[in-house]
Amino acid sequence: MAEQIDSLQRLVAQLSKLPGIGRKSAQRLAYFLLAQPKEEAEALAQAILQARQSVRRCSVCGNYTDEERCAICRDERRDRRLLCVVRDPRDVAAMERTRDYNGLYHVLHGVISPMEGVGPEDIAIKELLGRLDGVEEVILATNPDIEGEATAAYIARLLKPFGLRVSRIAHGMPVGSDLEYTDEITLSRAMRGRTSL
Ligand SMILES: [Zn+2]
Repeated sequence: MAEQIDSLQRLVAQLSKLPGIGRKSAQRLAYFLLAQPKEEAEALAQAILQARQSVRRCSVCGNYTDEERCAICRDERRDRRLLCVVRDPRDVAAMERTRDYNGLYHVLHGVISPMEGVGPEDIAIKELLGRLDGVEEVILATNPDIEGEATAAYIARLLKPFGLRVSRIAHGMPVGSDLEYTDEITLSRAMRGRTSL
């Protein structure tokens, strides 16, 4: 029987907690790291620690940043009349890759999901309502799945009394798809073809 190496097993166990990494991949990664020069492993560990310690939520939009306000919120050239509401920071990155949108964002950090016990008060809806000064259009860009649609509908209802334009990204995006994995052209098209609610 092969020798049981505790620290190696611990590494495999940690790696296999990562999304998309099964036990086999975790093992492959662990053996790969062990075969690398020690400095490489240290650099990776350091990068994880540093990112975890310095990255926080932007105080305005909730996007990830290592400053008080994220680079998008700080950028004076962005159109402050447009607010694009997304589920999480990965969606901001996806939208930014299209290079098509010049407004600001609001990151909800989740979507309403009764199944998982996530209610409106668990995501950043209150924060959204608190930053509508000067905003002319709110674009609801949650994913086109059941929870994303329900969240968009809920927010649209809340925004009604504010009398601003509320729009939903177009259904060029396949139902059930994920903003993050949608190619730039489709995402651009969905954004341009958005409809008022
Ligand atoms: Zn921000």
